[in-house]
Amino acid sequence: MALNGREGRGQYKPAKRSLGQNFLNDANIARKIVDSLDIRPGDNVLEIGPGRGALTKHILERQPGRLMVLEKDDDLGQALTALNPSIELVSGDALAFPWQTLESDAGWKIVGNLPYNIASPLIWDIVSQVKFAAAVFMVQLEVGQRLRAPSGGKDYGALSVWVQSHARVELLFKVPPQVFQPQPKVTSAVMRFILLPQPPEPNAAKALAATLRMCFQQRRKQLSTILKSKGIVGGEDVLLGLGIQPAQRPETLEPERFQALSNCLENQFGS
Ligand code: SAM
Repeated sequence: MALNGREGRGQYKPAKRSLGQNFLNDANIARKIVDSLDIRPGDNVLEIGPGRGALTKHILERQPGRLMVLEKDDDLGQALTALNPSIELVSGDALAFPWQTLESDAGWKIVGNLPYNIASPLIWDIVSQVKFAAAVFMVQLEVGQRLRAPSGGKDYGALSVWVQSHARVELLFKVPPQVFQPQPKVTSAVMRFILLPQPPEPNAAKALAATLRMCFQQRRKQLSTILKSKGIVGGEDVLLGLGIQPAQRPETLEPERFQALSNCLENQFGS
């Protein structure tokens, strides 16, 4: 059963700014976002923040096997399932969702026009905790640029390294503020994520997260200084052994180098 066209018609309570509610008001863009997830009949789909159903409607047209939605706004979640009882509603904060409960062999396709305030931590968790088949998220353009930033520039940081260590990231297209109600102040970007065949194992991922925290808290310092400040004796030798110059700054290290460095630090110093 499809939604009946009630979405976006103004029978709802006013949008809640605290929940990042900027509702997409353009059916062509909504369709384009859902198209980029390539949903086949019978697929398992998870939508984060369905709101008034702008994307949900197009997902349902593709006849998914299951459609689970995570929505923090109870009124909107209930309105959506009232219109289509086959939708599995999980009411609450997507940041608190237990990702390990999503079966890894179920080929989940995940989509969301994400509220700006949770996009980065949510994507951090999803790429590292869910074996999804594909994921497409609309985020603030600035976050999109950080997600796919190459090393060496100002946009490159812990989020870039972490996400690119787990997934291939593509910016599919930009979306102007005018197609939302209410209009946000910024341009958005639709990003696609395809998991890498061999992401870091759990222990290596833990070490990588710790190394990223350590390095990007002091991103203007040289790597050898950062290691020394953390009491890591022999850090210069570790760096040189990996072909990294001690004077390099964190933002110059590619994701593979960060992984190698964190593995080395974990093995030698148990950090
Ligand atoms: N998908 C709809 C659209 O494209 O029009 C709504 C997108 S709106 C930018 C973000 C949606 O996420 C809202 O429906 C909001 O209530 C919901 N939301 C906000 N914070 C959330 C959270 N922490 N967990 C789950 N949903 C959340």
